[in-house]
Amino acid sequence: MKVKFKKIKSDKIKDSFLTALKEYEDLHDYSITLYQKRVKSSTMQAQPIISLKNIFSGVKRYRIKLGVFVSSSENLKMEDVPEEVMTGWFAHELGHLVDYLSYSNLGMIKYGLKYIFSNSFKIKTEHEADYIAIKRGFREEIIATKEWVLNHELVSQAYKDKLNKYYLSIEQVVLCNLNEPPFVPIIEK
Ligand SMILES: [Zn+2]
Repeated sequence: MKVKFKKIKSDKIKDSFLTALKEYEDLHDYSITLYQKRVKSSTMQAQPIISLKNIFSGVKRYRIKLGVFVSSSENLKMEDVPEEVMTGWFAHELGHLVDYLSYSNLGMIKYGLKYIFSNSFKIKTEHEADYIAIKRGFREEIIATKEWVLNHELVSQAYKDKLNKYYLSIEQVVLCNLNEPPFVPIIEK
């Protein structure tokens, strides 16, 4: 694994990140930086690092930006989030990175613009990140994350509304079956 931690002081954060990343073998060859800083709009963000150099070389590098506080709250520190919740959160962000892998760096610029301007695209990518995390075995953790955010009194209503609008609901996560049996044709006699 090529992980770099930048400005992360909490071992709990590092441990839950590594727990999630362990199940994402296809990401182990890529350089991933987990970076903590105060962010306004969201708690976590998975980003491709694109420069003039790698837009042509095709080398893919990623960064996951992590807030110091949960959403815009001033008193709910990320490091105080329960470990299972944090692991679920990271599993979702790593799901985004898996989704990004199939795009070129130039393609990712287009992707970023679409994410900003198209609500339906945003919903599709957020659902996809959850589905990928569930496939990697993080269904329980994804549920724990959603329950924690939606029930926590210090998390703003605006953030909860955003979660309800763009992300899979708890019910959808519980019910989704990603291991449907393969297609078998019916042969009539
Ligand atoms: Zn997401």
